[in-house]
Amino acid sequence: APHIETVPGSGIRRVFEKALRLDDVAMLVVGEPDVPVARHILDAGRRAWAEDRTDYTANGGIAPLREALVAKLARENDVHVDTEQVWVTVGATQALHQAMGLILAAGDEVLVPDPGYTTFTMNARMLDAHPVPYPLRPERDFAPDLDELASLVTAKTRAIIVNSPSNPLGRVFDEETLSRLLRFAKDHDLWVISDEVYEYFTYGEKHVSLASLDHDDRVFSVFSLSKTYAMTGVRVGYLVTPKGLAETMRTVQEAQISCVAEPDQWAALAAVTGDHQPVADAREHYSSNLDLARRILGDRGLTYLDPRGAFYLWIDVSHATGGDVATWAEEFLDEARVAVAPGSAFGRMGEGWIRICLAASPDTLARGLAALPAPVSPQAATTA
Ligand code: PMP
Repeated sequence: APHIETVPGSGIRRVFEKALRLDDVAMLVVGEPDVPVARHILDAGRRAWAEDRTDYTANGGIAPLREALVAKLARENDVHVDTEQVWVTVGATQALHQAMGLILAAGDEVLVPDPGYTTFTMNARMLDAHPVPYPLRPERDFAPDLDELASLVTAKTRAIIVNSPSNPLGRVFDEETLSRLLRFAKDHDLWVISDEVYEYFTYGEKHVSLASLDHDDRVFSVFSLSKTYAMTGVRVGYLVTPKGLAETMRTVQEAQISCVAEPDQWAALAAVTGDHQPVADAREHYSSNLDLARRILGDRGLTYLDPRGAFYLWIDVSHATGGDVATWAEEFLDEARVAVAPGSAFGRMGEGWIRICLAASPDTLARGLAALPAPVSPQAATTA
């Protein structure tokens, strides 16, 4: 279809694929947890294969997994739903695509954060809908500006995507900000898609689920096991829908995937119901890397946004990029052997910034940060 041919790939992949062809690269470009998968999860996956649990399951997922997710949502997210509102998906990626597909027809508009995760825009375009970026500005502490949001709404706007903790910024929205966003959505009769895949990774701030504040059933929540349990390649996530969509969702799942791979669902059940110490350990690791990064960036005089969640750092390199951070990131990879994500991949507001991933070894992280060009200090500038 013509609209699909115009969907651009993400600028992250370009750097990543080039980096794979080079030796000895400090890989800070993709959002891949560097911690191992917990033993009990691997064991459950192996057991499922050994016992030949390899059949089609119910479209929404195996019953014990859906029940465990309902219990988790009540306990950890203060989100109270029944099993028919929880759909096991092929990662958050499919959950996002489903939520957008349920809401958007061709030509509709959806508000997406800028900078924001690349797939929000790509998915809207795949549906022949229009992503309308809402800027998250440094001068507003990277929070959405409600007046500006209102000015972007048209008769075709159907939904807003909210991501907290956010990729790439690491912003964690507090209850008041989320409530205001919900009120905005209600005033303009919009659906809300809440991407919470980094829910377990916050640094000093509490994650609040948007759906826990939703009193009129307008929120679709997107969760994933990928980042939480460091199992990005297993591809399990879930979509939590408003009430009354079960029959539609059953059809959507049947048409798209039938169901998620059965062995993966048993591994997912072990992850959700098992010991969460490995998740806490991973958070500690990212948090200690963040401390290391703060020291190095501070010493070198680089400007960055201090993240409150997720596992990325958003760093200002505009003094070095000459207005084209995407090209600069490729040159930097060639010259310094450090792979970083150009901010422009996340939207127009990202020009002049890069995103680096904190889920790396401290050595790799330190090497990458030390190679970044420091801004010329006023003193050096006068001597030059
Ligand atoms: N949402 C956000 C904000 C992400 O950063 C990612 C992964 N980078 C996803 C969704 C997709 O995750 P999954 O592996 O569950 O498809």
